[in-house]
Amino acid sequence: MPIKERKYCPYCGGEFERKFVQGRQRLVCSRCGEIFYENPLPASTALVMNEQGQLLLGRRGVEPAKGQWCLPGGFIELDESMEQAALRELAEETGLAGEIDSYIGCFYQESNFYGGVIIFGYRVSVVGGELKPGDDMQELCYYDMTRLPPVAFEAHRKLIHALESSIQKSENRSQEKK
Ligand SMILES: [Zn+2]
Repeated sequence: MPIKERKYCPYCGGEFERKFVQGRQRLVCSRCGEIFYENPLPASTALVMNEQGQLLLGRRGVEPAKGQWCLPGGFIELDESMEQAALRELAEETGLAGEIDSYIGCFYQESNFYGGVIIFGYRVSVVGGELKPGDDMQELCYYDMTRLPPVAFEAHRKLIHALESSIQKSENRSQEKK
């Protein structure tokens, strides 16, 4: 699916043209001269594990990557923190109420759909709710970390890898204490 191209200025409705300004090609309105800056979109995800140490994934019901597995998550709204967005998306997509445990990481990836996205990941504990696929999800499942299905987005795969490293580190620490 190709990146959605913007054609018209959101301020005056004039046609955009691509011009070299401030060091790169940018969209500039041919009528009012407004420069339309294109930036990566920030999103936030929840990494939820059950008591067996399995990771919660959802199968996407919408594009991009419809039908593929990914972490519960989505775009951060204007009035939200990254943590609030992770918990809201978790509730909307899985029915689960969560609490932030720890920050796992943040990765950038190019997106054919949105241009670029920055995805934050938080380890989240479930404190309530009932597992049920909601918005954007066809199906939800806890998977063994060693037997995960293919995960759709590069940044999600990196977050899962970062989660594994953080689990490994905390296991090593508890080993040292013994
Ligand atoms: Zn304009």
